[in-house]
Amino acid sequence: MSRVLVIEDEPQIVRALVINLRARKYQVDAAHDGATALQLAAAHHPDVVLLDLGLPDMDGVEVIKGLRGWTRVPIIVLSARHTSDEKVEALDAGADDYVTKPFGMDELLARLRAAIRRAEPTSGGEDDVVVETAGFTVDLAAKRVNRGGEDVRLTPTEWHLLEVLVRNTGRLVSQKQLLQEVWGPSYEKETNYLRVYMAQLRRKLEADPSHPKHFITEPGMGYRFER
Ligand code: CA
Repeated sequence: MSRVLVIEDEPQIVRALVINLRARKYQVDAAHDGATALQLAAAHHPDVVLLDLGLPDMDGVEVIKGLRGWTRVPIIVLSARHTSDEKVEALDAGADDYVTKPFGMDELLARLRAAIRRAEPTSGGEDDVVVETAGFTVDLAAKRVNRGGEDVRLTPTEWHLLEVLVRNTGRLVSQKQLLQEVWGPSYEKETNYLRVYMAQLRRKLEADPSHPKHFITEPGMGYRFER
């Protein structure tokens, strides 16, 4: 049974989440402010955290930083905030995913299941992962991509970008994180690099590069690889 920590100060949302999660056999703790949330997380070690960014006592980003000091628990941010700066700030602080209010319960539950699944330890080392999609297969250990029985030629930069996205399958990776990991810390504002290289990956791997199914853009925020 998975344990969920809900951090939210709006009573109606807390009630809806608690009812829906308990109905699906999750154990649920609810905290209405950041200080209570950090205490509950330390006491109960949840499997996933749902976090509202606007809390009465502290900014949700501070809660993320507090949790990331000691745990890799998946954190899904719930927020009505619409500026991408705040979403990006939450992602860069260590949030794993983002759901915008008002959210559909089905979508939220799907994201929750995906976050828990990703957090489960995989058998064997992380380096022997083969990721299959309907159109192509990525072998992270061999550093090869196969499409329709043929190896796809990728440049080292294309491969590095693909690798970061595939290792975070289903998760929104911020532009800053991608630029830092692939190009280095001094490139974190060069979002045009991402557009160019993402277009190349789509051209080489997507069935229809203008309607990508695997390399998804989250405008102003980052990219998500979907299987
Ligand atoms: Ca709030």
